[in-house]
Amino acid sequence: MAEAVACRVCGKTVSDEAQACPHCGQPLPRPNLVVFSDQNFDQEVLKSDKPVLVDFWATWCAPCRMIAPAVEAIADEYLNRAKVGKLNVDENMSVTGRYNIRGIPTLLLFKNGQIQEQVVGATSKEALTKLLDKHL
Ligand SMILES: [Zn+2]
Repeated sequence: MAEAVACRVCGKTVSDEAQACPHCGQPLPRPNLVVFSDQNFDQEVLKSDKPVLVDFWATWCAPCRMIAPAVEAIADEYLNRAKVGKLNVDENMSVTGRYNIRGIPTLLLFKNGQIQEQVVGATSKEALTKLLDKHL
């Protein structure tokens, strides 16, 4: 069944069955990457029985686009061990305000509803791997 996902480049909602974004032509994010929102945050993140890595991003944020492939690779590698996803700060003001997100990209690692780690600014897949491994 087709599900809606957010294009990592332009942020528009597209079907996850498409190979590339019909709006900007970029390849689509991996299906293992969850799209978090004000609506699903409590259920998907705070109540998750696995650690959850949340990438706070925006369509206009160049460093966010730079780290997107690393975050997607982590989502694939840690499938079944951790949940990985992104939250668009412009579309989800409630969660963004709740965690006082001032700069993006910001990555928060949640476990049992609590923030365990916070990374602000560009980062690497290696750094994210190290950070996640501490909490698995
Ligand atoms: Zn797009």
